[in-house]
Amino acid sequence: MQFHVITLFPEMFTSPFSGGIMARALNNGLVTIQTHNLREHGLGRYRQVDDEPYGGGSGMVMRPEPVAAAIDAVTARHPGLWRVLLTPQGDVLRQSLAAELARREPGLMLVAGRYEGVDERVRELVDQEISIGDFVLSGGELAAMVVIEAVTRLLPGVLGNQASLDEESFGSGMLEYPQYTRPEVFRGSAVPPILLSGDHEKIRRWRREQALERTRRRRPDLLVKNPRG
Ligand code: SAM
Repeated sequence: MQFHVITLFPEMFTSPFSGGIMARALNNGLVTIQTHNLREHGLGRYRQVDDEPYGGGSGMVMRPEPVAAAIDAVTARHPGLWRVLLTPQGDVLRQSLAAELARREPGLMLVAGRYEGVDERVRELVDQEISIGDFVLSGGELAAMVVIEAVTRLLPGVLGNQASLDEESFGSGMLEYPQYTRPEVFRGSAVPPILLSGDHEKIRRWRREQALERTRRRRPDLLVKNPRG
């Protein structure tokens, strides 16, 4: 899957993907990440990309022409990408939306805003607007990275063990069950004996109950959306 990011800060995209699963997915050619510098489409001698808001108000707004030119240039070279604008006003990213995005072959074009955001008319140039949560960042770059990582780990072949996707939080519509590793006792707190029993059916049932209980306590909203009894 291809990811193309339109940004004023392409340099931000190097180190976050230089380790772990993302680095492996890149090395194995399962994903590609290309940045496209919005400044190259800026206007005039100073490559201007922003301007004052009509009607007054604080801050600057990203002009539509450079963003449109960048989107057109990427589309001309890489047709068929699903065009996403990162904005706190978009569809909130959830595991289900990440799974939908993972099926958008040949890939995603992610437009990162800055300043007070983009001119309203940019919204007409994209297929979807996505928010990574109800808070405001200074730019769409980190949001684009979150989308890239959430989508990449759902692609076939990226995770060593695909089954872990079903078990982990949100995969089954619930939070994941509690996980333990060595030592058996840590600062007086022992691993639940059932996990040492070797009885896989009992362990499976215990984990399901724990996941359900934990979800009820911490995120009852998930159970309302996806009732599990
Ligand atoms: N004035 C805008 C508003 O109130 O909706 C916020 C603009 S924000 C300071 C600048 C840029 O950061 C946005 O254009 C967007 O690309 C990005 N951004 C900020 N918060 C975000 C979020 N929660 N999800 C996705 N992108 C976000």
